[in-house]
Amino acid sequence: MALDRTTEPWSALLDAGRADGRLVREASEGPSRATLVEPPAALHPDVLAALARTDIGRLYAHQAQALHAATAGPTIVTTGTASGKSMCFNLPTLHILCQQARARALYLYPTKALAQDQARALGAFALTKRVRPAIYDGDTPREARAQIRRSANVVLTNPDMLHVGILPNHGAWSQLFANLAVVVIDEAHVYRGVFGSHVAGVLRRLRRIAAAYGTQPIFMLTSATIANPLELAERLTGLEDFQLIDRDGSPAPQRRIAVWNPPLDADADDREALTARRSALAEAAELLARLTREGARTICFMKSRKGVEVLSRLVKDDLRASHPELAEQVEPYRAGYTPQQRRELEQRLVRGELRAVITTDALELGIDIGELDAAVVVTFPGTVASLRQMWGRAGRRGRGLAVYVAGEDALDQFFCRHPEDFLERPVEAAILDHESQLIHRAQLLCAAHEGPLSRADDEFFGPRWQAHAEALEGAGQLRRRTGTGAHSPQDWVGDTFVPRRPDAYPAAEVSLRSASSERFDIVDVASGELLGSTEAARAHTTIHDGAIYLHQGRSYEVRELDLQRRRALVAPFDGDFYTQPKSQTDTEIVRLLDRRTALGVTLSFGEVSVTETVLAYQRRRLSDHAHVDLFALDLPPTSFPTQALWFELPGEGPLAGTLGSGHAAPASAAMSAPAAATPVGVLPLDALLGALHATEHAQIAVLPLIAMCDRWDIGGLSTNFHPQTGCPTIFLYDGHPGGIGIARTAFQRFEELCEDARRLIAGCPCASGCPSCVQSPKCGNLNEPLHKAGALALLERLLAGDATAGPGARRPGARRPGDAALIASGGC
Ligand SMILES: [Zn+2]
Ligand SMILES: [Zn+2]
Repeated sequence: MALDRTTEPWSALLDAGRADGRLVREASEGPSRATLVEPPAALHPDVLAALARTDIGRLYAHQAQALHAATAGPTIVTTGTASGKSMCFNLPTLHILCQQARARALYLYPTKALAQDQARALGAFALTKRVRPAIYDGDTPREARAQIRRSANVVLTNPDMLHVGILPNHGAWSQLFANLAVVVIDEAHVYRGVFGSHVAGVLRRLRRIAAAYGTQPIFMLTSATIANPLELAERLTGLEDFQLIDRDGSPAPQRRIAVWNPPLDADADDREALTARRSALAEAAELLARLTREGARTICFMKSRKGVEVLSRLVKDDLRASHPELAEQVEPYRAGYTPQQRRELEQRLVRGELRAVITTDALELGIDIGELDAAVVVTFPGTVASLRQMWGRAGRRGRGLAVYVAGEDALDQFFCRHPEDFLERPVEAAILDHESQLIHRAQLLCAAHEGPLSRADDEFFGPRWQAHAEALEGAGQLRRRTGTGAHSPQDWVGDTFVPRRPDAYPAAEVSLRSASSERFDIVDVASGELLGSTEAARAHTTIHDGAIYLHQGRSYEVRELDLQRRRALVAPFDGDFYTQPKSQTDTEIVRLLDRRTALGVTLSFGEVSVTETVLAYQRRRLSDHAHVDLFALDLPPTSFPTQALWFELPGEGPLAGTLGSGHAAPASAAMSAPAAATPVGVLPLDALLGALHATEHAQIAVLPLIAMCDRWDIGGLSTNFHPQTGCPTIFLYDGHPGGIGIARTAFQRFEELCEDARRLIAGCPCASGCPSCVQSPKCGNLNEPLHKAGALALLERLLAGDATAGPGARRPGARRPGDAALIASGGC
């Protein structure tokens, strides 16, 4: 034990972790002092008086900076958790509302809980004569709605309500649109992927309707720290010249960061299990119980609700044995708490009556939970950005502990092997594509119902919208009205597009959370209750008969998939297994959009059509992933259009020469230089396929490090012979119909992708592939074949730039398709 041991509640825990090696990396950040400035005298006197009343007195530097920036143009603020970001947009808004009696503001929040917190915060300014905030969402009583439309001058809502309730009924909201001075978009980093691509369309519709009523509101955005805040802001709103406020003037606590890897499981007996680790859940339970006993107030984040429940039980059981009174001070945080209940929870934490709270999502807690002693994040939450946001909760009284407990997934273990890299890693980029075909067309159709599409819409939808409108015309959804220019050349607006069925209500059919409007309903078999829906493109892989389906953190078993009625009947499920579909996938290259030589191979980007047939599914035990059984399915093939990158490899030659035999190489061979391997001439087919397949899996595993996405958003296919390229080819594609920019980002940053994939495989101590490196939890080929050493050799060759004789080279002896040699790793 260190002699200079301090008396922090976590000191003993960290000592123990250092001693047995579970604490793989420590770092610290902060403290930093606040930079305070006087509120600008030009601020409306009522706002200044309100500031004085609320004891705020002075402003952090970034808040004053945001106030100035907001008057000049669109602004995005990306300072840290608990840095007073909402003040950055509240001050300019309050100033404008006090100055202009008729002015209106629209606040957009991704969750209802956040909107409720903000309505309360606005109320705290006590400017009741000038500022009349109101929440308008699905819960707003019908009888209150007309009153809100008439008199509220700050409307707090969410993008879904804006899309389906407000914009299509803009006539009823004419007071809002005709006086709209401010639009606030909080937590903008949440708007990425499919959701973000839709919201980008909704915000363009908002600007368009505002313009129709003669207003051009100021846009103010906030976001967690991400790699591309300006790009996100521009893509999301369609506006340019955003100002970035990212220099945090708020005080930061001294925060100790601990990267914690559960120990290798000593009980494991078979060879493959030598790298099996104790579960992250069991490890987290021990940490939480220990921190609680030492008196720390802790918040713990987990991915699933089931995980939250299990972990709460484990911690309580642990404490009950030694400190029964403490067991009652650990609570799972459940979704659906009212603001009142959340206040109570916070007060119990502040008063020390509650020692630990375990929850699923940083957002669910809203903004007012305050800071605690420790924040424990169990398994990688998906992005470094959200990990940092969760860690930001630690730091009560100027000191805090931020812990990350790694799981066994590839990214988790990658971070444990490269902790420095991880801690210093730039956060990911938030990616969206408002021109993603299906999403863009759905949004254009909604826009056409809000007002005819005309040449003036270039300003909102860009120069290419008309081609999409023509496609909608071809599909019978829009009708072209020929432009006349009857009065004068200035009147000429060209052709306009109007709905073919003006009484239709397309917004109701378009979910902001799916790329395609084709959906399957998920219905509880016992109650008949509609639980939700899922994209038709994913139905066969996720809700086939017998599938265990995770919906909003809860598990269900699919009793029947009804293809005709497009629904799955499900029942709650509590058993100890999960399912993995086995499928066959084909990709057809439809259109080449871009091509370059990268790492000595031809790398392409373009539109593809992915066809998938789900053949069977496997049941596996949750506890150890052991295969339980396999059931055949009889489902027709499904196809969807998307975007992909693909790269072509030589079928023989350098690649073949590096792979050794077709058998899995031991770890030591995997680590040795590929040049030492014996050239074998023609590579055994299984080894070639295994190397390509393992390379594809590793690339998919690390792609979320570059683009803010989930491996479930990406599909892959590797084949020793693709009929269109004529050679071994690996495809990585956007898993959502139409694509939302993930494959394009991977195409642009292919070199980094290969290097990260190489490091993922090279650093894994397993013998021949495991869930921490080349195995994928969603492989349509059930992780066969995989050749870890071959993939490492292939990636090393690529990175050395000698994987092929030259760009686009075709070897006359390239392998022919042979019989059944295709590895179609659908949705790998
Ligand atoms: Zn491994
Ligand atoms: Zn696979």
